[in-house]
Amino acid sequence: MEPQFYDTHTHTVQEDPAIISIYNQYPNSKINSTYFSIGIHPWYINQGQIENDLQCIHKNISSKKCLAIGECGLDKKIDINFELQVEVLQQQIEISEKYEKPVLLHCVKSYNELLAIKKQRKPKQKWIVHGYHKNIHLARELLRNGIVLSVGASLLKNKNLQEVVRSIDTENFLLETDNTAYSIQDIYYKFAALKGKNITEIQTEINYNFNNIFTL
Ligand SMILES: [Zn+2]
Repeated sequence: MEPQFYDTHTHTVQEDPAIISIYNQYPNSKINSTYFSIGIHPWYINQGQIENDLQCIHKNISSKKCLAIGECGLDKKIDINFELQVEVLQQQIEISEKYEKPVLLHCVKSYNELLAIKKQRKPKQKWIVHGYHKNIHLARELLRNGIVLSVGASLLKNKNLQEVVRSIDTENFLLETDNTAYSIQDIYYKFAALKGKNITEIQTEINYNFNNIFTL
């Protein structure tokens, strides 16, 4: 069966053959047989564990099932030292560049810092901000810098994000369920409704974006 829906970021193992999803894998937890991304999430940076986690990423990143590094990123709402977060992110960016896999990013109140790192490093690999739910101005700023937006359940309620989806071309988006109870179908249908298009058109466009960025 041809996959019909692509879920860029999820914490649930998916067994439906109609869906291709990128399962978020934490280092040193059991690797599933599904497609996955692997990375050190800023929430779980543990100074004594970083070397081990990075080694585990190195060990698994070349797997054909590993489609991306991440989620990793920056978060100003947590207690983990921000300099350390930057350092751990930069190490993962280097892995992304070395193994030629895109990066799935978590970013909270740190977009300026994220963009500064991107401008300085000029990575060749695609960067995807997952769970994007901010306004149109920031969305445009990220796109100008070559970042792709992955959007999920916030689409159902967040007016700013709905405006983002209405105003920006579908070629800039990926869709995801993250850790919500919604299905990826729910997200596709909402996205289609916001675009005023039918589901088949949106599937064609989003599925093209996914396959353009990730190598299955
Ligand atoms: Zn997540």
